[in-house]
Amino acid sequence: MVLKNYLLTLRNVYTKSVTRLYPEEIMELPDAFRGQQHLDMDKCVGCGICSQVCPNKVIEIVKCGKWYPQFDNGHCLFCGLCIDFCPNGALSMTKHFELCSWDRQGTIYRPDQISVPNKAELEGRTGGYTK
Ligand code: SF4
Ligand code: SF4
Repeated sequence: MVLKNYLLTLRNVYTKSVTRLYPEEIMELPDAFRGQQHLDMDKCVGCGICSQVCPNKVIEIVKCGKWYPQFDNGHCLFCGLCIDFCPNGALSMTKHFELCSWDRQGTIYRPDQISVPNKAELEGRTGGYTK
């Protein structure tokens, strides 16, 4: 038994690793990945449809200059309904997924926090939203 395990270990030393050293190494995410929402404040008219269709009551329309959606991603299931139903195409998904927080307040994203002009900057490990 010991010899069998030893041989198994030895064999795997020379095979390609199947694991990844996260968080140092991030896998390539597909374009259809559903991560943090991005809000285009120029397109949003504050109609609240995104808030109404959200099955988990993630979105609250708040005053931020004008009225815009605010997301509590602690409840979000990333179904994409808010994006599909937005009449103005103001919402989209990014590949930003590291959204954990030490407290409940930390999962709430104000409109101005998810509307950074350069969407590409928000994606991936090096970007992300600043809280
Ligand atoms: S993001 Fe779209 S659906 Fe939501 S309030 Fe703005 S315009 Fe309306
Ligand atoms: S992705 Fe789904 S659960 Fe998340 S805010 Fe949009 S509608 Fe709600």
